[in-house]
Amino acid sequence: MSLMAQLASWECPQCGVKTHYKGLCRECTEYDDTGIPVKPVYRVRLNHTPTTHQHKTPTKTDFVNARRRQPSKKQLEKMKEMLNATSRRVDGEGEDSEEDFMSVGEIIAKVEEE
Ligand SMILES: [Zn+2]
Repeated sequence: MSLMAQLASWECPQCGVKTHYKGLCRECTEYDDTGIPVKPVYRVRLNHTPTTHQHKTPTKTDFVNARRRQPSKKQLEKMKEMLNATSRRVDGEGEDSEEDFMSVGEIIAKVEEE
């Protein structure tokens, strides 16, 4: 029964030093005068099949969807209306009307619901 076998092993790809924790290899990582790594060398996990990371590159569809998040002219008009109504209400009733106050974020969310 070996507990060590269950621990992950990480190895520096450059100098081959093995540790049981991941991170930067202190021997191979280059630090500047203030101790900030300027050329970090990450240890790699042993006995671990490297999975090809699926970098999510934005597709054209994502781009179109993102643009659709922009409020339409009609929505903007409505937002302005609501903002005006809100500020008027706050001005009129003073500090006690804080509960009725709608934040800009809430107004945008409300307009987008429609
Ligand atoms: Zn190293």
